[in-house]
Amino acid sequence: MSSNPNNYAYPDARGHFGPYGGRFVAETLMQPLHALEEAYLSLRDDPDFRAELDRDLKLYVGRPSPLYPAERLTKRWGGAEIHLKREDLNHTGAHKINNTVGQALLAKHLGKTRIIAETGAGQHGVASATIAARLGLKCVVYMGAEDVERQSPNVYRMKLLGAEVVPVSSGTRTLKDAMNEALRDWVTNVDDTFYVIGTVAGPHPYPMLVRDFNAVVGRELRGQCQEAFGALPDALVACVGGGSNAIGMFHPFIPDSSVRMIGVEAGGYGIATGQHAAPLSAGHPGVLHGNRTYIMADENGQISGTHSVSAGLDYPGVGPEHAWLKDTGRVEYVSVNDDDAIAAFHELTRVEGIIPALETAHALAWAKRMAPEMGAGKRLVVNLSGRGDKDLYTVAKREGLKLD
Ligand SMILES: *Cc1c(COP(=O)(O)O)cnc(C)c1O
Repeated sequence: MSSNPNNYAYPDARGHFGPYGGRFVAETLMQPLHALEEAYLSLRDDPDFRAELDRDLKLYVGRPSPLYPAERLTKRWGGAEIHLKREDLNHTGAHKINNTVGQALLAKHLGKTRIIAETGAGQHGVASATIAARLGLKCVVYMGAEDVERQSPNVYRMKLLGAEVVPVSSGTRTLKDAMNEALRDWVTNVDDTFYVIGTVAGPHPYPMLVRDFNAVVGRELRGQCQEAFGALPDALVACVGGGSNAIGMFHPFIPDSSVRMIGVEAGGYGIATGQHAAPLSAGHPGVLHGNRTYIMADENGQISGTHSVSAGLDYPGVGPEHAWLKDTGRVEYVSVNDDDAIAAFHELTRVEGIIPALETAHALAWAKRMAPEMGAGKRLVVNLSGRGDKDLYTVAKREGLKLD
């Protein structure tokens, strides 16, 4: 398989990244997906739309996020300089708002009055409810019943913001079931409803537009690296659930062959146990949620159960662009298990005074392994995708503490 990263222009007009991506949906969704694609392609180059989006990113989200040199961590790990792209400092505490702000603006321009979203840990649900409140749109969030129980602070947050949270009791009662239910809602209510997908998955054009909205991270980073050290970084590391924070950081650097890029999946209890959420490391191609990509499924095509200590990485699929970047070799994909992620969570907290999300902690754990191998004089940037406040209960519980 070949692709010249210098002429990287994916997806193609049909939404394909090599053999991945596409649009595997009910016929009733074809028309709204075409309408969305058309609207997006004309608005993305429209100066007024761009100005509106840039203003929201600056004044509401708080962009640009800093590029922070983690000097104590660098000294401790020994080797490459560690820099952190601080997406945890965005409004609502993660990169997800970059995308919800963009999609909500599209909804507004399309004249939609109601937005729906799926959520796992609740981060995308909160980001969607937040922007819906700001724009005065009705918001319904589908969430697996299991997750509703596990993530009660985020459920309450969404309700405070005026969203309706619908618990989904089908299947494993988690994220993939919530996404099925949201797609079902959209089929029935396409006239007034915009479906805000939370990662670079789903049918075309979602993987493209979610990537584009998150690519503000990588674009900022280029300028910040020039300013801070007058050169491109040597390596980029990001965690991969559906893959939106990773692709947002990687995408603007794909043509720069000197920049190594590493995506870190959730190894759960270990790849060998089968109890993980690492479709790129241990899955195979298949179709899930409207696109062809790497998935975790059994020999009959049934989607497998997944496990990760971090709810945001606990998904049996991955964005189709990552599938293509894996096959072409442009990005390396690895996995980190629960225990190593928890250790990295504590380490960043104690050494730099930054409590990271458990998702992010997977990327940090891999950076810790890489930094000494890269050696002094090299520069490694970790996408600090979110803050860890939402994970305090999970960590405390693992350590035998009860917080309330
Ligand atoms: C949701 C989430 C992720 C995983 O989603 P991607 O689409 O893979 O980025 C990672 N980090 C944080 C903080 C999240 O909230």
